[in-house]
Amino acid sequence: MKKYELKFYPDPVLRKISSPVGKVDNTIRHLIKKMSKIMYTKKGIGLAAPQVGSLDCVIIADIGEGLISMINPEILTGFGEDYLEEGCLSLPETRVNVKRQQSIFVRYLDKNEREKESELDGLTARVIQHEIDHLNGVLIIDYAPVEERINLLSDYKI
Ligand SMILES: [Zn+2]
Repeated sequence: MKKYELKFYPDPVLRKISSPVGKVDNTIRHLIKKMSKIMYTKKGIGLAAPQVGSLDCVIIADIGEGLISMINPEILTGFGEDYLEEGCLSLPETRVNVKRQQSIFVRYLDKNEREKESELDGLTARVIQHEIDHLNGVLIIDYAPVEERINLLSDYKI
């Protein structure tokens, strides 16, 4: 089985676009298991596959209400807007105020390949939007104003 480890900015994998999962098999379930272990060890509340070096469309989250895992997540619609300062396990030095939708409808496959639709709001909706960004190579620094971004990036060896 493949080994997975947390990737840090500016690792190029964090800027790649992930591919939809064709078959939810044991490899994907293994990936979810490893991602959960890393997320809980690092005390994160969400993690996306590119952050552990995989380009499968898989995300997980746990805001203290139990583990959510989503395969091929897709936001169907969203409402409202909300600002909150976010961090990211792959950018440990950085916090950015990010505007997100307050509630979202998301469609995804669960780890048994069943299609699900959920309405999420508040922190869960925020974390899921953050993790889906990762599947598109988008990072919290992309939401910072340009001048601020230069300062933020000087914290990393690029
Ligand atoms: Zn992140």
